[in-house]
Amino acid sequence: MTMDTRSELEHIVGGEFVLFGDRIEEDYTKDECLTVGAEAPEYVVKPVTTDQVARILRFANEHGIPVTARGSGTGLSGAATPAAGGIVLSLERMSRVLEVDEQNHVAVVEPGVTLGQLDEETKKKDLVYPIFPGESSASLGGNVATNAGGMRAVKYGVTRHQVLGLEAVLPSGEVITTGGKFVKVSSGYDLTQLIIGSEGTLAIVTKIILKLVPRLLHRTTVLAPFPTLDGATGSVPALLHSGVGPLMVEYIDRMTMMGITAFAKIELGVPSDVQDKADAYLLVVVEGRTEELLEKDVERVGEVLVGQGALDVYVLAGSAAPQLIDAREKSFWAGKRAGATDVLDIVVPRAQIPEYATKVREIAMQHQTMIVGCGHAGDGNIHLAVFQDDPARLATVMKELFATGLALGGAVSAEHGIGRAKKKYFAELEDPNKLALMRGIRKVFDPKGILNPGALFD
Ligand SMILES: Cc1cc2nc3c(=O)[nH]c(=O)nc-3n(C[C@H](O)[C@H](O)[C@H](O)COP(=O)(O)OP(=O)(O)OC[C@H]3O[C@@H](n4cnc5c(N)ncnc54)[C@H](O)[C@@H]3O)c2cc1C
Repeated sequence: MTMDTRSELEHIVGGEFVLFGDRIEEDYTKDECLTVGAEAPEYVVKPVTTDQVARILRFANEHGIPVTARGSGTGLSGAATPAAGGIVLSLERMSRVLEVDEQNHVAVVEPGVTLGQLDEETKKKDLVYPIFPGESSASLGGNVATNAGGMRAVKYGVTRHQVLGLEAVLPSGEVITTGGKFVKVSSGYDLTQLIIGSEGTLAIVTKIILKLVPRLLHRTTVLAPFPTLDGATGSVPALLHSGVGPLMVEYIDRMTMMGITAFAKIELGVPSDVQDKADAYLLVVVEGRTEELLEKDVERVGEVLVGQGALDVYVLAGSAAPQLIDAREKSFWAGKRAGATDVLDIVVPRAQIPEYATKVREIAMQHQTMIVGCGHAGDGNIHLAVFQDDPARLATVMKELFATGLALGGAVSAEHGIGRAKKKYFAELEDPNKLALMRGIRKVFDPKGILNPGALFD
């Protein structure tokens, strides 16, 4: 890239919003992934309008310059790590909540709006955007690009179930709009859904139309210790069959529970003799329109879990519930601090979690590797932290963990995306016919391959 590149970028967004050399902070060179190293871009550019995004892309496309979109950089798969010598297109200044439409129950936002910011805005109108992937500083653009999930997926699905439409800029600089403020559409290929989860490889998202739901104010958190992990995860189908429709159903294994409660100094109120017998916990959150309705649902949850073999059932009081949920959301940091070498966000059908867990124990034994975890038990999404310092052995363990999940009818990534971190396993284990179609689609959107090269597949 030349001075011409810099002066063109400065011409588009203003000199203050083009960073280069020492002005590029380390944050822009990576995301939070444990295994993908930092890479310095040539420039970081911060547009504030769709037109500026379009002009940047048109210029980059003409000159074959790689462009990596960046939201808040909280991703866990190395998908926002820039290509060497390319441009980081940071959407942080496009951060307006454009509309909270109470009549249609939708919000229209720019991509740099964070989950926390949107929650503050929707709260004012007793509405909520119900998808809460664990990190509230993440941007909605990043959520769309990774099809983020989180703890409430068991009730509300994932990002793709709550996005009604998009404005997006193609590498050519053309701007398209997809979907709208409606649920039903049967008009050709669904481009909204194609762009969701595409990890910045097809288009840059510049506007998002999101579904909102009424904010239910009554909530109870139940913690059920189980003597075995299989008992905890195996109780989930019966719990969901009860018709209660919980907001969250999480499992936490013994080691992970010890780690996160010690770090966050949480007192759960579970007697120590019960804790000694517990190998895993099920955390169930139920929300309701009224206290009375909620109480009935909580009672039913208790009955089902005791019937499924829980050692007991505790309603968490005071600050213990929000603290535990917060700690569970931040379990990634606990794993990182404990020295985890890699993390997985694999998904299997939820009834197959016990079978998967058995196979994980066998893999751990066979390769003398510590593997601990927790997960969104309600939707089959398992987060494992793997502790193995030998890179060759780690790669073998990871491949076996992914292959085992796929053999049970699962997928490599449930919510963090493939990025750079998992593309090797994705290429090796995914159906080659599907991969060929995906490559073809990418080429149609981005014939010159400027958008996020190195992510998803090579
Ligand atoms: C503590 C912690 C907990 C987490 N918990 C969860 C969880 O429960 N569930 C979950 O799903 N994730 C979780 N995550 C991962 C992360 O928060 C999500 O992947 C999130 O969606 C990333 O958003 P971001 O704005 O940080 O995106 P970035 O990391 O900046 O980017 C992610 C991807 O999106 C692309 N992108 C960003 N903006 C745009 C745009 N406007 N147009 C096109 N492409 C774009 C980037 O190029 C990249 O490919 C967690 C992360 C942390 C650190």
